[in-house]
Amino acid sequence: MMKRAQILKPCESLAIDTVAVPVAPPKGLVVKTAFGGICHSDLHQWENEIRQGSEGVLRYTDNPFYKLPVVPGHEISGVVYSMGSESETGDAKLEIGDEVVIYPWIGCANCNYCNFGDNNLCLSKHLWLGNVRPGGYASFVVIPERKFAIKIPKSIPLDVACMLSCSCLTTYNAVIKAKLTIEKATSRNGKANVLIIGAGGLGLWSIQMAKHILPKSTTITVADINEEKLQIARDRGCHLTLCWPSSLTDNEAIAQAMKNGGYDAIIDFVNTSKTSNRAFRCLGMEGKLVMVGLFGGQANYSLPGMIFGAKTVQGVVVGTLQTMKDMINLVAKEKLIPPPMKYFQLEEITDALNLIKDGKLNGRGIINFSSSGSHHL
Ligand SMILES: [Zn+2]
Ligand SMILES: [Zn+2]
Repeated sequence: MMKRAQILKPCESLAIDTVAVPVAPPKGLVVKTAFGGICHSDLHQWENEIRQGSEGVLRYTDNPFYKLPVVPGHEISGVVYSMGSESETGDAKLEIGDEVVIYPWIGCANCNYCNFGDNNLCLSKHLWLGNVRPGGYASFVVIPERKFAIKIPKSIPLDVACMLSCSCLTTYNAVIKAKLTIEKATSRNGKANVLIIGAGGLGLWSIQMAKHILPKSTTITVADINEEKLQIARDRGCHLTLCWPSSLTDNEAIAQAMKNGGYDAIIDFVNTSKTSNRAFRCLGMEGKLVMVGLFGGQANYSLPGMIFGAKTVQGVVVGTLQTMKDMINLVAKEKLIPPPMKYFQLEEITDALNLIKDGKLNGRGIINFSSSGSHHL
């Protein structure tokens, strides 16, 4: 039987029930979940709310394809449990029992973005696993096509593997987006400064990514409101930290940040009006702001500042299937250190979401489906 957690109504405790194990679709497979990451965006989904400043509130339920109840969860690792009848092609050779991580950003396979390999930018985002399609808050998950199940190297344990599909992919993509800017600054100035805003699960991954992807002379600074989280960031290898408690004014925070000089690239994993405005003002000449966080709000920048600073602002929404494969190779080869993981049982999922909401979860929350407790099944 399959155990799952569903959102029945926004903000209400998720409902746990047990149903039959699903059948694999002809071209797809069913994965027996080992671990399921709990993403901050799951919280937005549960609350049915992404704030957009004066443009109002974006609601998941505004999407006509999104019908409650839903099984959230897009960070899924596990083993192949069953496969559909149609023979597989290409590089997606899989066997029952293989350890896999799932690429959840499944598109419509029919628009120019999907055809180009940019499934994550598909015009029909509602097809993502854990959104319209049932996701990883369940002991079994249906994957519509085998190519979305990626075999993971033995060097990556299954609990770490679940994070590869969102928190890890997003941070990898964000650091890649900053790479050219940092390399140019390094050629020009002999060194470069990168600022990471937010020391949660994504911020911690990004420190590791930055250390392995950016030039070695790059100074990595991390800002957060929480000193405890900044200590973990230092443990994960960042060079400098900035504590931004809520009592700090913008001018004070910016003055503190600028003591290290302007930043050639800033990756904002929080991305509120406040952090984004601070980030924009901390960018050095030809600096690049990479936006990732969905805490919500609206930007209010100096438009001449954009021109005279020759600045770039770029949004990042997860990454492509190919980017995920590249990233998995990096994680396996360089043995990146994952954020601290806190395990939950599926029955504790509402408590876990509330901990994330209150900012009380350090690192990444992960649902543990593996009864043996083993990180390899
Ligand atoms: Zn996510
Ligand atoms: Zn598409």
